[in-house]
Amino acid sequence: AKTQERNTFRFYTPLMHADARMRLMLGADLRQALMRDEFHLAFQPSVELRSGRIVAVEALLRWRHPERGELMPDEFIPLAESLGLIRRIDAWTLRAVCAQIRQWDQAKLPPIRVALNASAATFGHPGFIESVKQALQISQISPKRLLFEITESAILRLGEATEQTIHALHALGICIAIDDFGTGYSSLAYLKMSGIDFLKIDRSFVTDLPDSSNDVAIVEAMLAIAKSLGMYTIAEGIETAAQHEFLLQAGCSEGQGYYYARGLPPVEIERMLLPNPRHEPS
Ligand code: C2E
Ligand code: CA
Ligand code: CA
Ligand code: CA
Repeated sequence: AKTQERNTFRFYTPLMHADARMRLMLGADLRQALMRDEFHLAFQPSVELRSGRIVAVEALLRWRHPERGELMPDEFIPLAESLGLIRRIDAWTLRAVCAQIRQWDQAKLPPIRVALNASAATFGHPGFIESVKQALQISQISPKRLLFEITESAILRLGEATEQTIHALHALGICIAIDDFGTGYSSLAYLKMSGIDFLKIDRSFVTDLPDSSNDVAIVEAMLAIAKSLGMYTIAEGIETAAQHEFLLQAGCSEGQGYYYARGLPPVEIERMLLPNPRHEPS
């Protein structure tokens, strides 16, 4: 195999060589990953800033690769998108989230919202709404427990079709959040669409709070827009007490970030939400 590699990739720089080969190999593995059941979900709490209560979790995809160990979405979602595999992966996530909600309901966890991410290809596909209905039917969970996060750039890319999809989800009782708000360039026109319940303020605007006066101004403006449109706000990537304090004072509804918790396995979420008589807080 060594000699063959040398001959085949002679043309590329060593870096591109490694990159292209890596993509080829990972792509082949990705096709198998669903069948081999190598995906799982981590759940990151979303905290209501005023009460400090966990009111939601966001499902974040993880790939337990047989040789490479745990891979993060940034290492394989773009590849899955370019290989046309993302719809099947997002469908897996949807089913897994619905099954998890059902299990948590049966374990009498408080009925928190569970958010999941959908790529543009998933959200824009004509069969999407039908697959959502099917997942709800199979799991028998309340649609009110689900929230779809769609990035601002995906909305701008999809255009007209998005509005219908958002309406259809809304009609089912499912919530919608605009993810990475503020990073999608230029247009705010899409905010006129009805059915958007949450704006998620991108981490890039949170990182330098409260020291950067520009970011303070931008975040305050975003919170004002959301408020006047009747939308809730979730700030992403909160890592410090100072960021938390600023966002609380500025009137942001919820926060996510390492300051509260990372993406956690389901048992950790259960531990945080279920009263445990043997470990009563003192
Ligand atoms: P996202 O939806 O913007 O998710 C937030 C990302 O920021 C997550 O990374 C999360 O672990 C990370 N994060 C949370 N709090 C903090 C913090 O305080 N500091 C820092 N530095 N990072 C923080 P993750 O899990 O690697 O996910 C990356 C992206 O992959 C997500 O960005 C989302 O766009 C995508 N993704 C995740 N799961 C799925 C999925 O099931 N389907 C699709 N299509 N995309 C997914
Ligand atoms: Ca998200
Ligand atoms: Ca985000
Ligand atoms: Ca993101």
